[in-house]
Amino acid sequence: MSLLGGLDRHITQSRPRFEEWLGRLVEVPTVSMDPARREDVRRGAGVAIGYLKELKADAVLVETGGHPMVVGGWVRNPAWPTVTVYNHLDVQPAMEPEWTREPFKFSVHGDHYYGRGTTDDKGPALTALLAAHYAVEQNLPLNIQFLWELEEEIGSPHFAKGLKGAAWLRSPDSVVVSDTIWLAGGRPAAPYGLRGNLAARLTLETATREAHSGLTGGVARNPLTELAAVVSACVNARSGRVTIPGFYRAVKPLGQADRAQFLKSGFQVAAFAAAHQLTKLRVRDRAAVMRRLWAEPTFEIHGFVGGYTGPGVKTSIPPRAEAKVSMRLVPDQEPAAVFSLFRKYVRKLNPDIRVEADGMLRPYAADLGGPYAEALRKALRFGFGKEPAFIREGGSIGAVVTMAERWKAPVMFLGLSLPEHGYHAPNERFDWGQASGGMKAFVKYFEEVSRIPVKRRVR
Ligand SMILES: [Zn+2]
Repeated sequence: MSLLGGLDRHITQSRPRFEEWLGRLVEVPTVSMDPARREDVRRGAGVAIGYLKELKADAVLVETGGHPMVVGGWVRNPAWPTVTVYNHLDVQPAMEPEWTREPFKFSVHGDHYYGRGTTDDKGPALTALLAAHYAVEQNLPLNIQFLWELEEEIGSPHFAKGLKGAAWLRSPDSVVVSDTIWLAGGRPAAPYGLRGNLAARLTLETATREAHSGLTGGVARNPLTELAAVVSACVNARSGRVTIPGFYRAVKPLGQADRAQFLKSGFQVAAFAAAHQLTKLRVRDRAAVMRRLWAEPTFEIHGFVGGYTGPGVKTSIPPRAEAKVSMRLVPDQEPAAVFSLFRKYVRKLNPDIRVEADGMLRPYAADLGGPYAEALRKALRFGFGKEPAFIREGGSIGAVVTMAERWKAPVMFLGLSLPEHGYHAPNERFDWGQASGGMKAFVKYFEEVSRIPVKRRVR
């Protein structure tokens, strides 16, 4: 039987295993953010290794200095193309009072699977694993490796180090990340770009203790007022346009193909606003909203620290203040270069302000026209019966840029989560429709990629 011919039957037969394995994994609370869960995170890695071994795959626990990562899979012939599938097995905390079931108790209700981590990202990880197992059993000429991180929810602090230590992994020809959300059920969406990020703190001290505004006002310098003036000079509050000189210099204009993909995506402004409970927007035009979210940089002020915040008004002048800001960046803005433009500008406006970077992530955009994007398009159409929308994501995934840079391989996004699955939210769930369609899509992707001629590189 051909690879795709026996697939539906295989998927139906794998359902009990999928549910049992997802249940066992969900019931290990791999909350990477919680130091008290350190051993649970490690135990989750152990469960994942057990699954790989049960499928006769290689499996290795990699120490990173933080939570470990798991690598494994089937590398059977170095002459074949190699795909690396990335998922993460750590989860968000589950403290929200809205949970109607125990978050770390797995439950099946018809086609729905409940529990923290079902959709983000344990369900998609097992979907990819069972699809790969099928492809390997059918002897598809492709090496398939898994990279399961356990620190994604805390910003992948040891990912680059872990990757260096993961000697088992071959440099792949393609990377698939399965950890993104469609815009709506029934319409597959594949992001092909992510914004980067640059966070910074501005601090100013003008006295060693607070002063009375009646005794010193008019002479004392007010650090809150001065910081407010400086951040106001960085962004137009009404339009959102960033006003740091040179900020847009490296921004690649959005191409015709990108624009067309966005318009075809099915994105709806009202649904977007409702999902995030936004009551006022800067713009409501659909094309403008998508362009701003996915393809334009931003400057945001996240917090001012300083002065009196109790009831009423206390007429003191604060001695110091801090502004916490960040900029979402788009291709080809380089965070370090943007940071130096920003620092230079702030210094010019107010040389007494201290400027410190607080984390940088590069933006990422895959080639929409390449053979891997085409393979992904075919895969999603095969899995879900509909053309996927190629969109971008406004957020940042640190691991993506690290993998793209280390392996010089295209990174594709085959995400399976739906908006109603409750990503990072209470009552998280996944469903069999997305899992079974996802298995089909993964097998098709593997088949397509096994046929793409490999560019031989120095490995
Ligand atoms: Zn995730």
